[in-house]
Amino acid sequence: MTYLDRPPAPKGLPWAHNSLGASVHNALAGWWRLQRARRTVAAAGDLLESGWIDQGYASDVQSARQREGARHMVERYVAGLDPADEPLGVERTVGTRTGQIVVTGRIDRLDERRLPHGNRVLVVVDYKTGRRLLTTDDARTSMPLALYALAAGRMFHHACRQVELHHLPTATVHSWEHSAESMDRHVRRAESIAAECADADERFRAGLPADQVDRVFAPRPGPACGWCDYRALCPEGTAAAAARQISVQCFASSALAPTASARCAAVATSLTISAAEKPEAKVPESMNCLTFTSVVLFLPLEALRMSVITSGSRPKRAPAASASEVAIMPAAET
Ligand code: SF4
Repeated sequence: MTYLDRPPAPKGLPWAHNSLGASVHNALAGWWRLQRARRTVAAAGDLLESGWIDQGYASDVQSARQREGARHMVERYVAGLDPADEPLGVERTVGTRTGQIVVTGRIDRLDERRLPHGNRVLVVVDYKTGRRLLTTDDARTSMPLALYALAAGRMFHHACRQVELHHLPTATVHSWEHSAESMDRHVRRAESIAAECADADERFRAGLPADQVDRVFAPRPGPACGWCDYRALCPEGTAAAAARQISVQCFASSALAPTASARCAAVATSLTISAAEKPEAKVPESMNCLTFTSVVLFLPLEALRMSVITSGSRPKRAPAASASEVAIMPAAET
């Protein structure tokens, strides 16, 4: 994951779950890019092995064990696919705008499927590799997935309402078909978040007294603060949780550390902003969610990154995180 804050937070140790997720996403994307005749189960496993990212593991032994498990997981998933079902897009960037926001994101896979009566449907597919079990509700309530669908539908001039979470560790698919109304609700929610963030940003830029900063950007410490990049700068987070310094196992183990989702859930409750334009500003002791030109939200339930930009530059893609991410910007900023 990356943050938009300026100055950037000191980079912590890489997380094994990010390495594993990126390895799996890359292998699956690479598999679809092979010529059709070469899309075999073994080829998927080979791609996983050749592109394995070993950062963040406690030892080579642990990395090798996880690689072996990931290979099995990818091969099992690919065995259930038809290599001839050419996706409409793989790691496809999509974008759209409403009256108030601009949305861009990247979809793991965009399928075009034929229904029995001949109609075609577009389906947004999102791969998941975390250990947390998923439900249909996760697909239904995912704002990023709904925004992907909206953007894909507009780009391909064909309504796209179906979204799917493909959870590889359990070999399950959680699917949801949105209505026009439910899509609209997600858009309104995104607009509301963007407006709220823009408002907080403006209030800070206007010059909040130090004793009011925490009211606008209140810290929400919890156990998952140990995963937050800003913990070292955050008294509350430091007090709430010890820093996580060891790698984690992401699946196939009963002694698992918190997943990326858990980390996101913690950060979701605090707006994180940065103050590149106010380096001289005195940072209050208790202000842990830095300062201030951009606002980054991490949503629970998905490890998807959602960046709500109120000013500053567009977000960069996290190099070793999930392939799926979406950015929202107030339309006036673009
Ligand atoms: S910034 Fe927020 S999530 Fe991060 S350590 Fe502080 S309270 Fe926890």
